Amino acid sequence: MYCESYEREEVFRALKRAVDLIGGAGSVFQRGEKVLLKPNVLAGSPPERCATTHPSVLMAAGKLFGEAGARLTYGDSPGFGKPAAQMKKAGLEDVAEELGIELADFDRGDTVSFEDSPFTRRFVLAKGVLDSDCLISLAKFKTHQLTRITGAVKNQFGCIPGLLKPEYHVTMADPLDFSRMLVALNLFLRPRLYILDAIHAMEGNGPRSGDPVKLNALLVSTDPVALDATGCRIVDLEPAFVPTMEPGEQWGLGGYDSEEIEIVGDPIERFFHRNFNVERKPVRSTSKKGALFWVKHLISARPVIDGDRCVRCGVCVDTCPVTPKAVDWAEGGRKNPPVYTYRRCIRCFCCQELCPERAIFVKTPLLGKAVFGRSG
Ligand code: SF4
Ligand code: SF4
Repeated sequence: MYCESYEREEVFRALKRAVDLIGGAGSVFQRGEKVLLKPNVLAGSPPERCATTHPSVLMAAGKLFGEAGARLTYGDSPGFGKPAAQMKKAGLEDVAEELGIELADFDRGDTVSFEDSPFTRRFVLAKGVLDSDCLISLAKFKTHQLTRITGAVKNQFGCIPGLLKPEYHVTMADPLDFSRMLVALNLFLRPRLYILDAIHAMEGNGPRSGDPVKLNALLVSTDPVALDATGCRIVDLEPAFVPTMEPGEQWGLGGYDSEEIEIVGDPIERFFHRNFNVERKPVRSTSKKGALFWVKHLISARPVIDGDRCVRCGVCVDTCPVTPKAVDWAEGGRKNPPVYTYRRCIRCFCCQELCPERAIFVKTPLLGKAVFGRSG
């Protein structure tokens, strides 16, 4: 649905029209059900940075679904810091207060089994998620160094509470395995509706340090694979390059074939943004199987710190999930920016994702460029 700005009334009208076109709020939940709105708060940046779901989208969803009889809560588990503090920074807490909806418990979690899972059979999920009857995903469309883009499917990673998320990066260091886990997670959670905030998206060094770009699109679907694929087509990225697409289709979460996706509302051509800055190539497996693993590892894309931007806050060191740390203080402590030990680095890019100063970039060594092309 076309939406020119984050002016509240305009976002509400666009969301209502979109939801009405696919069956209306009444087709998503029954009156009186406990509905959790799950924005992407990442690590609480101001809305204009475009790293988080915009407060106007939460406001529109809260108003629309509240009026339709949902008992609403909202919540997300950030990559760093406490949920309440990050919600405040992202402008989401103020909107929730206006709406009169409470923050769900994303600090604590419970273990759940998913015996029929095609991949991961156990998850620890936030209590606030498990306590709700219905999940509505309010995702943000951005570039992502691990999965090319983050959108509807990846948004549910925030249903895993705080410090457990880095463990998934360690146990599923291969981005293809990580993506399979995301698909399995969505199959377990089965959000009933996915809303993708691409009114202003993020390109370049996403998901936190990239540049805002206006796409004017508010996309809504019950199929997160189709929704992400449509976002990809808007920015001229081949959907198959995003590693959640194939398992998502294979395991029945959704489909990414353009012939099978029916677009209702504004025509997709209205949103095309061909020069969106995103890496246009498939994500490769980094599996340790194979004799060439260490060669590939040494020449593949890696995080690099821009010392001029670094304020020595230590977020990257604190969030690096491997032991011993692959990014750490050198002798002399915080007098200098942290340094990398690349042979330990699993290329999860958590450090780049969470650096608050946009000081970490993903770069490919020259030899890697020669072997792989533009990036590893
Ligand atoms: S998170 Fe960013 S700013 Fe903070 S120490 Fe690491 S590189 Fe520097
Ligand atoms: S250094 Fe960065 S990319 Fe490497 S393992 Fe640590 S957090 Fe992940």
